[in-house]
Amino acid sequence: MTKIAVAKGDGIGPEIMDAVLHIFTAAKVPLEYEVVEMGKWVFDKGYSNGMTPEAKQTIETLGILFKGPMETPKGKGVKSVNVTARKTWNTYANNRVFQTLHGVDTVFSKAGIPIDITVVRENIEDTYGGVEHMLTHDVALSRRLITRPGSEQVIRYAFEMAKKKRARRITCGHKANIMKITDGLFLEVFYEVAKEYPALKADDVIVDDLCMKLVTRPDTFDVVVLTNLQGDIVSDLCAGLVGGLGFAPSANIGDHICIFEAVHGTAPDIAGKNIANPTALLLSGIAMLRHLGLMESAAIIENALLYTLEQGVHTGDFGNKAIPALNTTQFADAIISNF
Ligand code: NAD
Repeated sequence: MTKIAVAKGDGIGPEIMDAVLHIFTAAKVPLEYEVVEMGKWVFDKGYSNGMTPEAKQTIETLGILFKGPMETPKGKGVKSVNVTARKTWNTYANNRVFQTLHGVDTVFSKAGIPIDITVVRENIEDTYGGVEHMLTHDVALSRRLITRPGSEQVIRYAFEMAKKKRARRITCGHKANIMKITDGLFLEVFYEVAKEYPALKADDVIVDDLCMKLVTRPDTFDVVVLTNLQGDIVSDLCAGLVGGLGFAPSANIGDHICIFEAVHGTAPDIAGKNIANPTALLLSGIAMLRHLGLMESAAIIENALLYTLEQGVHTGDFGNKAIPALNTTQFADAIISNF
């Protein structure tokens, strides 16, 4: 049986991870789990990268990490465990799928406009190196790194994924009109790679215009690839189009290690109350099952989830307020009852 590493995370992390693993177990998913030590409480134990050496070793051996959201302690001298994990294992592409879900009402679902957008965000470079310093007491400077190989690996991933998905269109979001050298390089590489995929309609849209077009005609987009910071912002915008962060899964793809997690954070305002929505983590888990070739398990769980949502079953963060909200555990049990 395949074994994967699981890090439950902080805040609502353990609650939603337990709910998802409960669903996996009920669906008899043929996986074994090794729980690893990662997150804020590991920083507190004195590990400045937020993970124990044993956790790092296990993840590198198993190759797959299924993780809950994690909090980075505030202040100088500590780096985000999420960013560290992506960099350490060169998970260069962040793949986020945003789809209309029946039962999750949005202005678009009410208007009968279907959404199926995959955002591919470069995951390592850009301003996320955190290379910044005070130039003078009143001037702060940040460095932005965009490389040809770094751009090429994520853009190539996006084209390959678009081809497999039978996408109609792949769009590069950028600000090359202003940042001519950095975004200019990303855009140049995009069109170089595009030549190898003549069957795909490849185009580009300036990122501010892209935001406007995404909120007015989201159905015209299919796959969108962006640099790190712009991709982060645009993907949260896309989460809003399909009902919010509770429905936004993500996969961090590398050549050796892949990390599957929800887009949202630790939701400290609702942590410990057993009321969080586990759907985003469950959708991330379903994508992980497909990545591992466990198509049947993925289909059983996905169909049960979609049917549950269609029935109007919901947690407190969405859905018809006339129908009482279920807590996290009850919501997981409702999905299991629909297998
Ligand atoms: P957040 O995503 O945790 O919360 C934003 C809002 O959405 C809150 O009101 C929260 O209650 C709600 N929300 C989020 N997930 C939900 C869910 N599953 N069900 C119901 N409601 C949900 O964002 P934030 O408050 O900006 O960040 C909190 C912490 O999470 C920070 O420490 C941040 O660094 C961390 N974070 C971690 C990750 C990650 O691990 N990948 C990602 C983003 C933020």
